[in-house]
Amino acid sequence: MKKIILLVLSISLILGITGCSNKEITPVSRETFALGTIIDFKVYDKDQDRANKVIDECIKRIKDIEQKLSVNIEDSEVTTVNKNAGKQSIKVSDETMYVAKKSLEYSNITKGKFNLTVYPLVNLWGIGTENARVPSQSEIEGVIRNIDYKDAVLDEAKKTIYLKRENQGIDLGAIAKGYVGDEIKKVFIQNDIKSAFVNLGGNVMAYKAKLDASKWRIGIQNPLQPRGQYIGIVSVEDKSIVTSGNYERYFEQDGKRYHHILDATSGYPANKGLISTSIITESGIDADALSTSVYLIGLEEGIELIESLDKVEAIFVTKDKEVYTTSGLKDSFELTNEEFTYKN
Ligand code: ADP
Ligand code: MG
Repeated sequence: MKKIILLVLSISLILGITGCSNKEITPVSRETFALGTIIDFKVYDKDQDRANKVIDECIKRIKDIEQKLSVNIEDSEVTTVNKNAGKQSIKVSDETMYVAKKSLEYSNITKGKFNLTVYPLVNLWGIGTENARVPSQSEIEGVIRNIDYKDAVLDEAKKTIYLKRENQGIDLGAIAKGYVGDEIKKVFIQNDIKSAFVNLGGNVMAYKAKLDASKWRIGIQNPLQPRGQYIGIVSVEDKSIVTSGNYERYFEQDGKRYHHILDATSGYPANKGLISTSIITESGIDADALSTSVYLIGLEEGIELIESLDKVEAIFVTKDKEVYTTSGLKDSFELTNEEFTYKN
């Protein structure tokens, strides 16, 4: 008798584990291109039509945000602010104001290494465009003079942004994708989606848990290998996992790599011995701002900054293939690639 009960129990347990796993509901998957990157959706819902409509809504939302924030769109709010630098203040939407304010916050934290007004420098290097080149020292000095986040006047009451001097410009590229992740999450919540996974060119938004309540296992990109090869795995639910790396966008000249995270105080690509930084936290915009910020300030200051923040964790990879994590990741990060050394 006991045996039978045990048998029934173990069968139901197995069913309990596999009974409603993500595998049983085929996710609706979709890829789209926006914000200069491939965005990959996986939405788990019994009603595939509904999941498809939710993805449509997300994509509409992404295009709407891109139309306001992109420096590559002629009539975006950001481009309009930049064209009117030194001339007049420009009325912007609440969301452009919100994202610009966040950028200003991190400009302060990093003492201007991360910088809301970095646009002239980004434009000069042209990394990721066909005009990418190493500028001369005098060109760099020329644009650095125009970079000062204190010259960005964000008037929340009037909803305007004003840059004090001509040739200044703002760039929200370091946090826009993180913000988009947060906005996609809102669409999921409004539509009562139970489980989803969105990858915005390396910025991952793991929405809730998997359908069987287990955590998402997210691979952390191996910065030295092609996309899809990992150094390790982090287990999370309801988190943004954002990675900044020197492999994302770069060009090479005379055997030297020049990547797209520029130190706004030196004028050159960040060179603090790191090749990738990942941030794991709930807010996508903070994760994105922080991954770029710690890449710029380096390992020691970076760890100190992240440890000072509540519910924020980080993974740092140095050019010597050493991996450092913050204290809260001890149980949820697993280094799987033996070429790298786990230092803590
Ligand atoms: P990715 O776009 O690869 O995810 P990041 O989030 O680190 O990488 O952002 C890099 C982008 O941020 C650059 O392409 C540029 O638009 C912008 N950027 C570069 N340097 C800075 C800086 N010092 N401060 C703020 N934004 C920057
Ligand atoms: Mg970033």
